[in-house]
Amino acid sequence: MRGCSRVRGLSLPSPTHELTFRGQKFSLKRDDLIHPVIGGNKARKLFFLFDYPKHIHTLVSFGSLHSNAMAALSFIAKERGWHFRYYAKLDQKTLAAPQGNLAYALENGMELRNIARLEQEWQIAKNLHSATLYQDGTLFVPEGARCAEAEIGIALLAKEIEEWAKDCKLEAVNIFLPSGTGTTALFLSKALAHTPHRVYTVPCVGDANYLQEQFLALSPDVSSHPTILEPPRKFRFGRLYRELYAIWHELKKNTGVTFDLLYDPVAFLTLLNTDKLSDKPLLYIHQGGLMGNPTMIARYKQKFGRI
Ligand SMILES: *Cc1c(COP(=O)(O)O)cnc(C)c1O
Repeated sequence: MRGCSRVRGLSLPSPTHELTFRGQKFSLKRDDLIHPVIGGNKARKLFFLFDYPKHIHTLVSFGSLHSNAMAALSFIAKERGWHFRYYAKLDQKTLAAPQGNLAYALENGMELRNIARLEQEWQIAKNLHSATLYQDGTLFVPEGARCAEAEIGIALLAKEIEEWAKDCKLEAVNIFLPSGTGTTALFLSKALAHTPHRVYTVPCVGDANYLQEQFLALSPDVSSHPTILEPPRKFRFGRLYRELYAIWHELKKNTGVTFDLLYDPVAFLTLLNTDKLSDKPLLYIHQGGLMGNPTMIARYKQKFGRI
């Protein structure tokens, strides 16, 4: 991809692999391989930071202490020589023995502040805020990088998919990816709206109505929104379910690919329970998130033992 080589450490375009799961062939876009640590959709959504038009000395964000976005922001800040400040609920037990994303972000020099200070210091309603803010060299990025600028990196993903489909002589594909804030699915769908490719997603945080609202907040044009599929049953985000752990293991064993434990298991259960995607070849996007797995695996082992 033109212009990407300047982004140190990111390997683009990401490869696409052919896999079979439970007798169904599908293609897998390996965005998890973009970078050994921050690979996945956070690298895409935060791509704009590598080429930000204004001078930055401090990057600010907020969210959970386990967040993949937090780890990705800490990496980019370190790469660019910026200070990184992150507001979170400062859970002492988690902070006493940092693991996964948190351990990584702290190693990169992340400064933590209590989330209670965010609204005082930035005068924003944290849950509704979905735009970056720039003030004298400090750039604020909303939770999960839910912001308009995320479109820049996701448009590159769309280009890579279009080129891959052309090379494989596939006229139209169904693209499937699980959603949190829905930012990735929405901008991907928007970028591909003029093509025969269609984007489908499943809500993993909140329900279909919540996801619809997220889409509308980012883009009022409903005709370019992704199609939302319902999961086969309700899963609370971050909770442990035996069937999610089981399908994650089965995927790893039968495809050789390690998926994330928060989003991908819900997505694959949804895929196995729908026939809406069977009219075209399927492309699944691996959005990374593997650094969050050790904490999830430890929790699963404690709850269910080995499967
Ligand atoms: C952040 C993340 C998502 C959700 O992405 P959104 O753009 O917020 O919908 C999905 N999968 C993984 C692995 C993630 O890290």
